[in-house]
Amino acid sequence: MTKTGHNRESRLFYQSRSRRPVIDHAKGVYMWDVNGQRYIDASSGAMVSNIGHSDPRVLAAMQAQMERATFAYRLHFENDAAETLAWRLAERAPGDLERVFFVSGGSEAVESCLKLARQYTLAIGQAQRSKVISRFPSYHGSTLGALAITGYTPMHAPFAPMMVDQPKIPAPTCYLDRDDLSNHDRGLKYANMLEAEILRQGPETVLAFIMEPVGGAATGALVAPDSYYQRIRDICDQYGVLLIYDEVMTGAGRTGTYFAAEHWNIVPDILAVSKGLAAGYAPLGAMIAPDRIVSPVLDHGGFIHGYTYAGNPIACAAGNAVLDVIEQDGLLENAASSGMALKAELTKLMASFPFIGDVRGKGLLLALELVANRNTMEPIAPQHMAAARLVDIAYDKGLIIYWRRTRGGYRGDHIMVCPPLTITPDQLGDILDPLRNALTQLESELKQ
Ligand code: PLP
Repeated sequence: MTKTGHNRESRLFYQSRSRRPVIDHAKGVYMWDVNGQRYIDASSGAMVSNIGHSDPRVLAAMQAQMERATFAYRLHFENDAAETLAWRLAERAPGDLERVFFVSGGSEAVESCLKLARQYTLAIGQAQRSKVISRFPSYHGSTLGALAITGYTPMHAPFAPMMVDQPKIPAPTCYLDRDDLSNHDRGLKYANMLEAEILRQGPETVLAFIMEPVGGAATGALVAPDSYYQRIRDICDQYGVLLIYDEVMTGAGRTGTYFAAEHWNIVPDILAVSKGLAAGYAPLGAMIAPDRIVSPVLDHGGFIHGYTYAGNPIACAAGNAVLDVIEQDGLLENAASSGMALKAELTKLMASFPFIGDVRGKGLLLALELVANRNTMEPIAPQHMAAARLVDIAYDKGLIIYWRRTRGGYRGDHIMVCPPLTITPDQLGDILDPLRNALTQLESELKQ
């Protein structure tokens, strides 16, 4: 019996009462629980473990940093791990993005983008700009600011009275459209929704537009037509609206380039990155912005925002070592080529499983959408919990995939298949065999 009178196995709690086995150890793309069961990590955790687990080069770099200094508070000391990583990120970031603000995770990175954008417009005398337009569906984080711009109803609804309501436009879910438009025109159609929303809100009140260049878990690896990206950039320029790229999931190589923005040659005004930055070896995220935005803020009383663990030396040492591994081992190239191979294999599954409605994504950010009818894209009845069930069946077969169920917010079930960027052709088989078995089992359950 515990202090609170509950007879529970653990003092920990997360989102629900469901519990998983305890992790024993992990190496490369495999993980073992304390019962000796092996799993292949085909979701890199939550699209985090980009270089695989327990790479000795990263462990050694972290150990070396720990032996020098484990913590140095930013108001008292600079640290060279953070300084070096900032330089390296600035070199790799698109266009003029060159000033780096470290944080400990994705929500903090997104919050930082919102605060920097707002303080910038104050500094340049545009105080009336405060609205941040985002897309529905989308996920930008759990803190109240990031949640206000998140387009995901189940997480949003309970806290709505505590947040400023922010305008949303539809994400470019072109695969659901049954019109006669070309892909190019569909991209423009969705991008033009931003212009319409800016005009509806009043351009002088709009601070920023935030988007994931390739959608994450809320949309299931949604990629827009190429025409979408430049049109969005042009609209933001036309109305003086800052374009924020949330690359928390897509950044650090997941889509086959270091930042996904590179695929379309877009330079956003501010960018958030996290998950793959230290690839799960330490909590780390960053906001990257150009000096033209940062300097006015620093000159007008400074950036009124910060976190105790910002630029933590151990996390930044991990970040530097992860970047070394990505570059030494050619992981961007592998993400692109293995991503293409995996996507082709996932697409082949559509021939055997008619309830796979779509296979999409870029690099190793890939998803399958499960539907009742591929022609109409009608979703599977919610009581089947199809994606959740598939994840559980796969887990029992030693395959870790990722899901987000679309309850009440938008339509559809999807699962994400996003292994570490180190994945080899042989290991792809270790994903596809149990996935095929899991889909077969789900199919028979759906018929019952
Ligand atoms: N933005 C995107 C696109 C994400 O995918 C996530 C997390 O999944 C976040 C922000 C929030 O990151 P974190 O969970 O590290 O706070």
